[in-house]
Amino acid sequence: MKLLEERVLTEGIALNENILKVDGFINHQTDPVLMKAVGEDFADHFKDRGITKVATIESSGIAPALMTAAALHVPLLILKKSPSKVLNQNMYQTVVTSYTKGNSYELTLASHLISERDHVLIIDDFLANGEAATGAVRLIRKAHATIAGIGILIEKSFQPGRNKLEEQGFHVYSQVRIARLDKNVIELVK
Ligand code: 5GP
Repeated sequence: MKLLEERVLTEGIALNENILKVDGFINHQTDPVLMKAVGEDFADHFKDRGITKVATIESSGIAPALMTAAALHVPLLILKKSPSKVLNQNMYQTVVTSYTKGNSYELTLASHLISERDHVLIIDDFLANGEAATGAVRLIRKAHATIAGIGILIEKSFQPGRNKLEEQGFHVYSQVRIARLDKNVIELVK
C-alpha cells in the first residue's frame, strides 16, 4: 500500500537490523487519516471472504483494526493480554511470547463474544516471528470459529512469520513488506 510505504520510509526509524519504530504514526501517536485508509485497504482486499468479525491484539492493532471493522460493517474483537492464567470457565486463553518485550502473556477472549459461526479476519501492526498471529489463531479456534485471513500493516519479510502462517494455509496480506533493516536503513521488498 503506497501511502503506508511512504510513511514507513520517511518517518519510520530503524533501530537495528531487527526493530523498526513507527511511534510517530502508529504505535505511540496514531494518524487517524492514515488508519482510515489502511482500514479501507484491508476491507477492500478481504471484502469477498464472508467476514463476520475482525480481531486484533491490544493495543497497537486496535486503531487499524477498528477502521477495518468499520469499513466491513462488522464488530471488532480486542484480544486482551493478561499477565497470568485467570481460571475462568467463560474465557478462552492461550500463551503468547512477545517479540519486542521477550516476555509471555495470556491472550484472552470472553467466550460469549465468539461462536463457531464466526469467520474472523485477524489484523496486527507487525509480523515478525508470527507468535502474535498464531496465538490469535489458536484462541479463535478454541471457539471453533474459522479464520478468513490475516492482515498486517508492516511485515518484516526477512523474519519467519509469513512462512509459518502460509504453511498452515492462511491467506496473509501485508500492506508493507520490508526486505532488510539496519541502523537507519529501511529496504522494501521489490
Ligand atoms: P511476532 O509475534 O510476529 O513475532 O511479532 C509481532 C508483534 O511484535 C507485533 O504485534 C508487534 O507489536 C511486535 N513487533 C514485532 N516486530 C516489531 C518491530 O520491528 N517494531 C515494533 N514497533 N513492533 C514490533
